[in-house]
Amino acid sequence: MNTSREYACSLDRNDSLKGFREEFYISNEKIYLDGNSLGLLSKRSEKAVLDILNSWKTLAIDGWTDGVHPWFYLSEKIGENFATLVGGISKELIATGSTTTNLHQLLASFYQPDGKKTKILADELNFPSDIYSMKSQLKLKGYDPQEHLVKVKSKDSHLLETSDIVNAMTDDIALIVLPSVLYRSGQILDMQAITHAAHERGILIGFDLCHSIGSIPHELSKWGVDFAFWCTYKHLNGGPGSVGGIYVNERHLGKEPGLSGWFSSAKEKQFDLEHDLTPASTAGAFQIGTPHVLSLAPLIGSLSIFQEAGIEAIRKKSLQLTDYLIHLIEIELEDFQFELASPREHQARGGHIYLTHPHAASICKALKYEGIVPDYRIPNGIRLAPVALYNTFEEVWQTVQTLKRIMLEEHYRKFENTRGVIA
Ligand SMILES: *Cc1c(COP(=O)(O)O)cnc(C)c1O
Repeated sequence: MNTSREYACSLDRNDSLKGFREEFYISNEKIYLDGNSLGLLSKRSEKAVLDILNSWKTLAIDGWTDGVHPWFYLSEKIGENFATLVGGISKELIATGSTTTNLHQLLASFYQPDGKKTKILADELNFPSDIYSMKSQLKLKGYDPQEHLVKVKSKDSHLLETSDIVNAMTDDIALIVLPSVLYRSGQILDMQAITHAAHERGILIGFDLCHSIGSIPHELSKWGVDFAFWCTYKHLNGGPGSVGGIYVNERHLGKEPGLSGWFSSAKEKQFDLEHDLTPASTAGAFQIGTPHVLSLAPLIGSLSIFQEAGIEAIRKKSLQLTDYLIHLIEIELEDFQFELASPREHQARGGHIYLTHPHAASICKALKYEGIVPDYRIPNGIRLAPVALYNTFEEVWQTVQTLKRIMLEEHYRKFENTRGVIA
C-alpha cells in the first residue's frame, strides 16, 4: 500500500458510497472521527424533524393519526427499518426508550431467577450504564450484586475470548448480557457461537448493539439471540438523545413485559382504556408510555439513508477505512509508542479503532486543537472512527499526517494529560 495523498484521493474516487457525504452537515474546518459517539446530522433527518414539527403545528391532536408520519404508529414503522440492520423481522422490533431504560425493561422481562439459576453473566469491559442496570435489577429481586453479577475477565484489558465467556456459563447463570462490539477496543464478539453455547446450557442471552448497529451486519434471528437493545445516536445518526431500539425474538412475543404501560398495549385495544392490559403481540409490547415523537423524528430520515446505502456496502467501506488507517499508523507512527488494541482480523473488528498511548489524553487534545475530532477513553485510549457514510480516505490520511506532526514536534506536551468533562 502506498502512503501518498494521491493514493488516498484515488480510493475516494473509487468509493461507491461517496455520494452520501453530501447528505450530511460536515464542517470544512474539521475532520470528524467521533461518529461512534454522536453521529452527524443529515439533511434528511433535519427535514423529518421539520415535518413532525409541522404536523404538530398544523394538526395538533390529530397528528397522532394524520399527516405524513402519524405519531401513533411511528415507533412500529421506525422499528421495521431496523430489520435489515439487525437481521430480524418487523414484529420483533420497536423504536423505544434509551439503551439503559431498554435494558431495564428487558431484564425485568427476561431475568427470572429459578431454583439454582439466579445469576447474571456480564463482562468486566462493558459500559458502566449496563452494569448499573444489571445491579439494580438484581437488587430489586433481592440478590446481592457482589455475588450474583458474574463478570467475564479479559486477559489483556482490551479483548474477551469466546472460550472464557463459555467457561463462565456455569449452571447457576440465568441470563447473559454482553456487548456486540466492545466500546473501547472495538472487538466484535462471536455472537453466533456465544448464543449457541448459552442455549445449550439453558441460559437466555441478549446483546447491547450500541457500537455495532449501523456499522456491521447482524443475523439476530438466525443466531437465535433472545433479545437486543441499542441507542440510535451513534452510527445511526439520530441526534443527541434520539430514541433507542429493542429486538425480541418472536418465540418470546405475546407475553406481558416486565414493565408495563399503556403503550405496551395491542394498538386496537389501547383506547378501550381497560385496567387489564392486552399486550401487543409484537415487540411493541416492550414500550411503556407515550413515545418521544420529537426524538423519533430524525430516525425517519437517517434510517432511509441506511436502507439506500445497504449495510453490506457500509461494512465493506468501513473495513477499508480502518484497514487503511491501521496501515498508515504502522508505517508513519512506528517510532511513537502507539499500540493498536483493536483486533486486526476483519471478523473481530468493529467500526472504530482504539490506540493506546501513555499520553493519550494530551494527544487527543492536540488533535482537537488541529481540527481533528477523536475521542479519549480513560485510562489511555484514543478512539478513531472513520464512518463509511461520511468520512473519506483523504481525511484518514490527513489524520495520520497530523498525528505524526504532533508527535514529531511534541505539540501534545502543551496539553495536560487528563480527561475533559465528557471525553
Ligand atoms: C452508548 C452506550 C450506552 C449509553 O446508554 P444510554 O442509555 O443511551 O445513555 C450504553 N451502553 C453502551 C455499551 C453504550 O455504548
